[in-house]
Amino acid sequence: MKIETDGLVIREQNIKEQDKLITVLTRNNGILRGFVHGAKSIKSAKSSASGLLTYSRFSFYKNRDTYVIDDCHTLEIFTALRNDIEKLSLAQYFCELLETLVPEGENSEEQLRLALNSLFFLCSGKRPALLVKCIFELRLMALAGYMPDLVCCEECGCFEHEHMNFIPESGTLLCGECIAVCNKKRIETGFGVTRAMRHCIYSEFDKLFSFTLAEESLPVFDHVMEEYISVHIERKFKALDFYKQLRSFSENITKYIDDTNNKGSDD
Ligand SMILES: [Zn+2]
Repeated sequence: MKIETDGLVIREQNIKEQDKLITVLTRNNGILRGFVHGAKSIKSAKSSASGLLTYSRFSFYKNRDTYVIDDCHTLEIFTALRNDIEKLSLAQYFCELLETLVPEGENSEEQLRLALNSLFFLCSGKRPALLVKCIFELRLMALAGYMPDLVCCEECGCFEHEHMNFIPESGTLLCGECIAVCNKKRIETGFGVTRAMRHCIYSEFDKLFSFTLAEESLPVFDHVMEEYISVHIERKFKALDFYKQLRSFSENITKYIDDTNNKGSDD
């Protein structure tokens, strides 16, 4: 049996000296794993097309219980990610989340489109990386069956409230008037983050990345997603931990430089 499809390489494992096993998020067949023979030979045309975070055209051939990739051609390599370790680690976290949430053998066109667009926006820098992360996480969770109910406060039905709260465990909203009845963990999302979250799950795909969120609200959205994912998905993501370490390191450096400059101007 042969499967011709395009897909994004979301994991790469070395097998023996010259071969590797890659995990691909395909357009029509969900996650597929395939062996690439001779992939590490510098003469192999399959080498770059089967690299991590490369979007390629693949030909999978079924050999007993496993797939072998007998041909692949690069469509996009997202060069800008390779020069920025923070973005690269974030993209690797996207891969870990995709591998966790996309089933095998099912149409995964929307997940692939989401992944490719998210990588595109990470590369272009047209949206803050942290916002791209939140959009990707929330939309992917919704596609995977973890769609929160963000229509209105689940107690009184009000649509907007200055002190709206998100309850990660139930994936619902409670307004500032009704929150007293809740003894579960809650995060205050107010107007801005509530609207942003609604946009991420209810908008048409073409408009998914077309909104803005105040810079000071981004950490709140990020916190919401971290809690929502950790409540519903029981696993740790290594690349996410690494990304957070890098971010905190670069924030500390920026703060140090700002403090030093301010001190210099005071003197
Ligand atoms: Zn209410």
